[in-house]
Amino acid sequence: TEACLAAIEDAGVLNAFVHHTADLALERAATADARLAQGAAPAMCGLPIGIKDLFCTKGVASQAGSRILEGFLPEYESTVSQNLVDAGAVMLGKLNMDEFAMGSSNETSVYGDVINPWRRAGDEKPLTPGGSSGGSAAAVAADLCLAATGTDTGGSIRQPAAFTGTVGIKPTYGRCSRWGVVAFASSLDQAGPMTKSVRDAAIMLEAMSGHDPKDSTSADLVVPDFEAALSGDIRGKKIGIPKEYRMDGMPDEIEALWQTGIAMMKDAGAEIIDISLPHTKYALPAYYVIAPAEASSNLARYDGVRYGHRAKLDQGDGITEMYEKTRAEGFGPEVQRRVMVGTYVLSAGFYDAYYNRARKVRTLIKRDFETVFAQGVDAILTPATPSAAFGLGEMTDADPVAMYLNDIFTVTVNLAGLPGIAVPGGLDANGLPLGLQLIGRPWEEAELLNAAYALE
Ligand code: GLN
Repeated sequence: TEACLAAIEDAGVLNAFVHHTADLALERAATADARLAQGAAPAMCGLPIGIKDLFCTKGVASQAGSRILEGFLPEYESTVSQNLVDAGAVMLGKLNMDEFAMGSSNETSVYGDVINPWRRAGDEKPLTPGGSSGGSAAAVAADLCLAATGTDTGGSIRQPAAFTGTVGIKPTYGRCSRWGVVAFASSLDQAGPMTKSVRDAAIMLEAMSGHDPKDSTSADLVVPDFEAALSGDIRGKKIGIPKEYRMDGMPDEIEALWQTGIAMMKDAGAEIIDISLPHTKYALPAYYVIAPAEASSNLARYDGVRYGHRAKLDQGDGITEMYEKTRAEGFGPEVQRRVMVGTYVLSAGFYDAYYNRARKVRTLIKRDFETVFAQGVDAILTPATPSAAFGLGEMTDADPVAMYLNDIFTVTVNLAGLPGIAVPGGLDANGLPLGLQLIGRPWEEAELLNAAYALE
């Protein structure tokens, strides 16, 4: 813990940690030492970790990367972060993120950009660590903590993991409680670990998981021993390669990465089979209707009364002006865009044309996966992202849709509620990490982690 706290101070320029809890960390580390001395240590006893700013942590600033939650000190601890405390983990502080987890580059954060510790060879230009869990990814990659929590609504664990050469798993929807995690799109949001290795991901996911009566969508299932499942033996497993993920204009290096992954799986004794997920091309448009729709509803609670920031009012202003001024000041441009899109697609005249249509597409996407799993496919292998980390500012001036295209390989997994993991798959020509993604059957994170283990 002391070494990590020193590293965090030295690496301030990365802007990964945004709220520091050094005193609390040292206190918890001392408790962990005592437990270790007594020989009664839980799974993560004394391990220093970072917590994404989206998780409510009791008495510790939890702003979801937004100005609107300025000054908000939760009275309660999220179930996932409490589970980690119970497992003995030591929180070093809160990690930077895109505002309300909306983004793919951490550039929508009220705290400013996070810098990826990786650079292109011979080029000092700062790169994005990805988003929205950009602070988590950068902190793990730069050794500021051993692991961190992330959340993934459309790829926010897997894409930043891929951009920083780290491991990130989004579990099956319902594996981790959403209680106390600031809501973005409730039917898609899941928490998960971001770590340096698949083994660490297995240990941390087990600690984070479990049924929680406070979240009605959390599954009442036994959490398996994920670490014990890591044999690395995948002989005879069927790995599906979906042809629809071979997008037009896919860079050669991404195709090469995919082929490397396929070869590794084959060498480990898996059977590679070509599969089809025919509705893949509709996933991104469906996601960018459903996620903003749910966000517009979830974000209605930030009204200047119940949480955080309230705008200064002029004489004679009424409650409407308070809402308008507070929300105009408190939400950044990307969040405002999502609220507008969401309100539009949910409005009476357009509900059927957009929102209901997107929900039908979502069902078709889910069925695509069910069909291939029913044919005996154990896991699906794809690239995690369509490119390596890009430069800060490189994509922000472009049309917002260019940024949304980053999620092309990841959103299907959230729409179908499946577990997905990103693991490092090698380096591109500039020496930047690239990530592979494995998608598993629902509730089979143990098998998924084991398949990922074979790729490490
Ligand atoms: N980049 C996606 C979005 O902006 C995904 C975000 C996430 O998974 N939280 O919506």
